[in-house]
Amino acid sequence: MTVMPRPSILSVEPYVGGESKVPGVNRIIKLSSNEGAFGPPPSAIEAIAANAREAHRYPDGGATALREAIGARFGLDPARIVCGNGSDELLAMLILAYGGEGTELVMSAHGFMMYEITGRWAGCQVIKVPEKNLTADVDGLLAAVGPRTRLMFLANPNNPTGSILPQSEVERLRRELRQDVLLVLDSAYAEYVTRPDYDPGQKLVDATPNTVMTRTFSKIFGLGGMRLGWAYAPAPIVDILGRVRGPFNVNAAAMAAGIAALAEPGWIEKSIAHNTEWRGKVAAAMEAAGFKVWPSEGNFLLVDFGDGTRAKAADAHLRARGLIVRAMGGYGLPQCLRVTIGAAEECQMVIDALTDFSRNG
Ligand code: PMP
Repeated sequence: MTVMPRPSILSVEPYVGGESKVPGVNRIIKLSSNEGAFGPPPSAIEAIAANAREAHRYPDGGATALREAIGARFGLDPARIVCGNGSDELLAMLILAYGGEGTELVMSAHGFMMYEITGRWAGCQVIKVPEKNLTADVDGLLAAVGPRTRLMFLANPNNPTGSILPQSEVERLRRELRQDVLLVLDSAYAEYVTRPDYDPGQKLVDATPNTVMTRTFSKIFGLGGMRLGWAYAPAPIVDILGRVRGPFNVNAAAMAAGIAALAEPGWIEKSIAHNTEWRGKVAAAMEAAGFKVWPSEGNFLLVDFGDGTRAKAADAHLRARGLIVRAMGGYGLPQCLRVTIGAAEECQMVIDALTDFSRNG
């Protein structure tokens, strides 16, 4: 007889990502996971290599040095930081601690898909709220809250749409949201944002007892493969996360790489400048080619080809040239492809391929 898992597990489709091969194509350009355009910072590569000599040692389970480095870089109290094996792990820890069977989790219809996947396997009822113009709708999110709601997730900027809520709207959301609902501000793309009024969540975490901010080293810091994220939370929530956290959840090489990346001179500035320039160039070229591009504050663009068939054809056209982007069918946006802003040459290849597609595809 087959051993059965909890029924909610069967409602989850396995996450598919990180694809890096196209049969018959030798040179692959991977622009499907919003990884940093420049690869890992050189000092992080050295730190990872140096760390190999200590691979027989368990890492510091409290991630003390890393938390201190994050605290110093962002002006935060290290005691209020929790590190995770990617921010995905922190999202899961929050859901395990505050959600589960009998609770509801509220998110935007096209919010980051791990909220739904993790929420479901944890047994939460996941409520997806329609957006306005692919941007989170604060009134809709508030209206969706019911007596069983315990968690609300907002990625700002959001992946895959690239949309952002003005600071005043994020503050209104927290103000009008019931106090016993934990608001998780997922700021994975915070560093790329150029809006002057933007706060990644630090202010709200400091001002309220029920807001958490999550961040990652996977995007601008170029360390997706190391799996490193962190959360900033009020002290009682840090205490709770400490109870659900695995003993050595972040590995030693990742911690060393993170500390090095934070100290890499000019890295963030250089990355923002590149991203802003090439995001603009790719968007302009897509529009000139006749495709709709959603405004983005992240290191990616959501390109709308009008219908699923045309998006599939565009995807095939890109793949034949070794360019892997992200199809959006799994997000309920089959007419779109999400394109990461890679290195200059890679962006130019996308521009050339899709311009060619618009003429001949
Ligand atoms: N949140 C958002 C909005 C993301 O786009 C991603 C990565 N795709 C994550 C969280 C997870 O990042 P990681 O686990 O690599 O830190």
